[in-house]
Amino acid sequence: MDKVVALCKRRGFIYPGSEIYGGLAGTWDYGPAGTELKRNLKELWWKEMVQLREDIVGLDAAIMMNPKAWEASGHVEAFSDPLVECKICHQRFRADKEVEIKEHETTHKEEKVEWTSPEQFNLLVKAYLGVLEGKQSEIYLRGEITNGVHVNFKNVLDSTRVKIPFGIAQIGKAFRNEITPGNFTFRSREFEQMEVQFYVKNDEKKAEKWFDYWKQNRMDWYLSLGMKKENLRFRDHAPGERAHYAKAATDIEYQAPWGWSEFMGIHQRGDWDLSRHRQYSGQDMKYRDPQTGEEYIPWDIETSAGVDRSALFILIDAYTEENGRVYLKLHPKLSPFKAAVFPLLANKDKLVEKAKKIYDDLKKDFMVAWDDRGNIGKRYAAQDEIGTPFCITVDFDSLNDEMVTIRDRDSAKQERVRVVDLRAYLDGKIK
Ligand code: ATP
Repeated sequence: MDKVVALCKRRGFIYPGSEIYGGLAGTWDYGPAGTELKRNLKELWWKEMVQLREDIVGLDAAIMMNPKAWEASGHVEAFSDPLVECKICHQRFRADKEVEIKEHETTHKEEKVEWTSPEQFNLLVKAYLGVLEGKQSEIYLRGEITNGVHVNFKNVLDSTRVKIPFGIAQIGKAFRNEITPGNFTFRSREFEQMEVQFYVKNDEKKAEKWFDYWKQNRMDWYLSLGMKKENLRFRDHAPGERAHYAKAATDIEYQAPWGWSEFMGIHQRGDWDLSRHRQYSGQDMKYRDPQTGEEYIPWDIETSAGVDRSALFILIDAYTEENGRVYLKLHPKLSPFKAAVFPLLANKDKLVEKAKKIYDDLKKDFMVAWDDRGNIGKRYAAQDEIGTPFCITVDFDSLNDEMVTIRDRDSAKQERVRVVDLRAYLDGKIK
């Protein structure tokens, strides 16, 4: 883990937030490489969830919402008890639930459990709106992005042609006053989520079918990004463990250096959200079946993934040490840069000119890096550490034969490829 954290800092993936002021616990800034990785992850997710599907549409709701929305969703109430948190696994319990606390201690067989002191605890981060001192209204930054979707359920129904079953996808920031942020970006106070709220008929069988479908669909997606199967697993929640809204819940967990840890969840939320918003807003949240005319409040199967936790586990999974070489074995789809272009020597104008031309041409279609510092070995090492799958070198032969050397990150093998074929070569490898 220390090695991954150091690489993230050294190569511009992730820096501590506000570092020059001593930091701000639970916040992280993404550097040039990290920003590209996260952008690729979110774009691939969006493509898979929205672009390629006919039954999911996108949404981008405001972070700041009328505070009533958080009363309706149960977050104000559910998080306002005095809570203690297990310092080992960060599970929180009501401080007055002695039996649950004792029971939890038995789950950590080898270790002595330490608890944070009880605190009147609300996970929601407060903010103040309005310019007049004393007349400001208190609001919350969203604790999860879900709520902005549910409050727009009717708007989406009325403004598009969606029919049950259908989903609404959203990616965005969420904020939580975590008592103990830690494990690098794993538990942050500001983070991003990517979610689909998938509305289905209010029927146990149909809901179960969709729940199982989304479980497998999400697992398959992470595998398609190259994550190692043996490091991923499902973990079903026991009834007493589920969040206040969930009828059924499964996490997808990663075998992190500190143990199996959740980075996404699939929840059967029933009609909890829409019913509560109906109750609190007084607005109709029913769906009318266009064929049968039947009216009902749909149930929601939610898939909720952390962008930062996904990125973190993708980085940990890709970190490879082999024969004295360190590289990130990222799927090329996720790599910050698809290729790097080098002139063999930085002081030979003809080589630089030719390499620059290739670089300028490729960058129209791909994120490509340019490097002419130091020797080739050092350039390879730097690109390996940010997971660039292909390094393209222009040498003296290139000036005559219009070919370049491509070196593959994982095998370190080199091959000669015609300059005119470069685009097709990269296209073929990156999909
Ligand atoms: P945990 O039990 O670890 O606190 P959670 O069950 O509260 O997580 P959810 O409310 O289900 O998490 O949120 C969905 C996803 O959002 C999580 O799977 C995770 O990827 C991400 N997430 C939640 N809290 C954080 C956090 N503090 N920092 C980073 N990501 C988070």
